[in-house]
Amino acid sequence: MNSYMTDLQCSRCGLRYSAEAIQNLCSCGAPLFARYDLAEVSGILSCEDFSHRAHDLWRFRELLPVRLPENMTTLGEGFTPLLSSRSLGRSIGVESLYFKDESLNPTGSFKSRGLSVAVSKAKELGVREVSLPTAGNAGGAAAAYAARAGMKCHVFMPDDTPPLFAKECEFYGADVRMVKGFITTAGNLMMTELKEKGWFNVSTLKEPYRVEGKKTILYELAQQFSWQLPDVILFPTGGGTGIVGAWKAYLELKELGWISRSVMPRLIAVQASGCAPIVEAYEKGLDAAAECENPYTFASGLRVPKAVGDFLILRAVRESGGTAIAVPDDLIRLAWLEMSREEGLFVAPEAAAAWAALKQLVHAGHVERGEKVVILITGSGIKYAI
Ligand SMILES: *Cc1c(COP(=O)(O)O)cnc(C)c1O
Repeated sequence: MNSYMTDLQCSRCGLRYSAEAIQNLCSCGAPLFARYDLAEVSGILSCEDFSHRAHDLWRFRELLPVRLPENMTTLGEGFTPLLSSRSLGRSIGVESLYFKDESLNPTGSFKSRGLSVAVSKAKELGVREVSLPTAGNAGGAAAAYAARAGMKCHVFMPDDTPPLFAKECEFYGADVRMVKGFITTAGNLMMTELKEKGWFNVSTLKEPYRVEGKKTILYELAQQFSWQLPDVILFPTGGGTGIVGAWKAYLELKELGWISRSVMPRLIAVQASGCAPIVEAYEKGLDAAAECENPYTFASGLRVPKAVGDFLILRAVRESGGTAIAVPDDLIRLAWLEMSREEGLFVAPEAAAAWAALKQLVHAGHVERGEKVVILITGSGIKYAI
């Protein structure tokens, strides 16, 4: 596979860990990041080399953690289309609006990128059983890739998650537990059993490799825009692997010398008003977010009251010159219909929140009309529709 990963490094205290053993968080409690020998990679590869490779995220294999091809657990994830807006962009004066359509991934969301890489690496390290709490899509993706890898998967899900999410996990043969409460309650319940039974925890940012899968979104965007990144990218944000992965990927691309313009795209974290811990921390100038007390939004992927990577999301937003913004559910519903009717895109409501947010940001002058803007369509609307 030719992975150039060297080791793991704590994203907060900088402590290094071996990548040849199973790891979760740093002893200081922060997420670990995979590090690569980027000087070596830029010596043997140029960005043009990728255009001749297979149409999935494994085309970036040198910058991914899996060492042996037999551990690569793939369902064809990645290489999703970049679509130009037909009319919504123009309706607010933004001529260069694009949608990166992640709903075309296996299991219908961008979670498949992260879980393909995480399950592959777990398999490489000898893991037999994985578990995670989920707001919906991560569970489906984990269950699918675990089935593909011949592993057992345990999914803990709030009992008011739209019913198709649990059904999907059951089809893949996962052990599904419906939990009264939020994703944080589900996570706590899981931990008790995980410790007893020795499952591997693949919760958001609590192992190092889901973020590696997610970072390929930014690599792909770079490639699709001929290595000239856009000005602004909007990320519907829950646990934050998407936005944190994009930030990490940008720093890697810059070090590799593959992007011509050295200004980072402004990364925008979009949340729902009923659960916006990151937005509140951003507005108060804090480095970490307080837990949201009574989280509510029908966009279930955004209902994450507390994220272990909160400080990383805030750094990604601030270092890129972006912002964090919350939109209420009624505007998300309106935006949801608009994206379907005006663009032919039946998206996950989380993604519709990004369109609702863009309208506000243009109105407030945070995004200028001449800028090149990308909305990340994180998933398909199908599983939410009942
Ligand atoms: C998980 C999810 C999100 C939130 O993504 P994070 O990277 O965890 O912040 C947004 N939209 C959809 C459809 C999701 O499944």
